[in-house]
Amino acid sequence: MSLGTIVMKFGGTSVADAERLKRAAGRIVAKREEGYRVVAVLSARGHETDRLIADAFEVSANPDPREMDMLLSTGERVSCALCAMAINDLDHRAISLTGSQAGIVTDTSHTKARILDVRADRIMDALDEDAIVLVAGFQGVSTSKDVTTLGRGGSDTTAVALAAAVGAEVCEIYTDVPGVFSADPRIVPDARKLDVVSFEEMLEMSASGAGVLQLRSVEYARNHGVSIHCRSSFDDSPGTIVVSERETMEHPLITAVTHSTGEARVTLTGIPDTPGIAGRIATALAEANVNVDMIIQNEPVSEGARADMSFTVPRDDLRTAREALEALVADLGEGGVEADESMGKVSIVGAGMKTHPGVAAKVFTVLGEHGINIEMISTSPIKISCVVAADRVPDAVRALHAAFELQGDDTIRPEKPFGEFAS
Ligand code: ASP
Ligand code: MG
Repeated sequence: MSLGTIVMKFGGTSVADAERLKRAAGRIVAKREEGYRVVAVLSARGHETDRLIADAFEVSANPDPREMDMLLSTGERVSCALCAMAINDLDHRAISLTGSQAGIVTDTSHTKARILDVRADRIMDALDEDAIVLVAGFQGVSTSKDVTTLGRGGSDTTAVALAAAVGAEVCEIYTDVPGVFSADPRIVPDARKLDVVSFEEMLEMSASGAGVLQLRSVEYARNHGVSIHCRSSFDDSPGTIVVSERETMEHPLITAVTHSTGEARVTLTGIPDTPGIAGRIATALAEANVNVDMIIQNEPVSEGARADMSFTVPRDDLRTAREALEALVADLGEGGVEADESMGKVSIVGAGMKTHPGVAAKVFTVLGEHGINIEMISTSPIKISCVVAADRVPDAVRALHAAFELQGDDTIRPEKPFGEFAS
């Protein structure tokens, strides 16, 4: 009486202690008893990954990335082994697998590897033998046979990739919030839970700070047509379904306000204003594997003068970005590098803005009325982002959420402490 295959992913707060882990085991078993073949992906427990990172920095100022991955991949393994034990005690057969055993093959970029292939035959065999398969999230094995990890929040991507590989009908992401919200409910208490959101919007939301789904997981799901259901692990209420734009019924002007307080700005000053320089700068950052977000170049006013170029990068990448740019400046023989660590970003996302002029004007006006200075701006057809001082981000989020009237009338109060919503 098999109903097909389902992938269930449990985030760190959903397996944080023995009681929660057993609750997750119970949910997995219940799905199996409904008749589904179940693959479950687990994250490391609670703040385990943060703890492991801190351990690494206690012994080394610059931990070797290969060894970092050996270390970080252990957190997810612990969750899976424990969960398998709990499931076995519920009289079901479960087998836990590392990312490598599960056939997740990645490139060789340690700590932010990309999945290249999923060789799911071992999972398929275990499912055929009626076992529940538990896969350690966030990790794989590289083409040079080393253990890799997929970047923070990477278990979401593991889950989506497995859902695509085993042909699952849905990838359920169980988390500590009831779904995807119109803003972070810790900042905006009357934020609305979204029932449906399009891949396009979710991509922009994840890219601009909504921590509920890792950006790459949404990309992967869109590219492979995997439907995601993001829901609470604490109750049975429906969460948020991420689907293609065709399938979304409503087209609100603005869907959500997202934010991040983890930005840094790097400015290259006094660089030559000659062709090819921007290319060299971008190449240096790309080679250092730094994700540049916004870029602003100031053209010199007078002939022969020097130019400035500013970028935003994730604060965690600031050191790497700085080193790459300082090497380049040394090579050019002129210019300087400056950094501002305390930047944040507020963004509004909505498919409806494609066809509505005036949204940007409203965003800038609202921020201005609240005395919030905009440092940098970037837009896409369905997103407007403003870089502001990190300490003004909560005010900016509240002001925009209210101005675009995104608050919900149904007051769903998510269980605290929203651990995974933050980026
Ligand atoms: N444990 C990893 C992290 O904290 C991966 C994940 O939970 O998705 O980033
Ligand atoms: Mg997560």
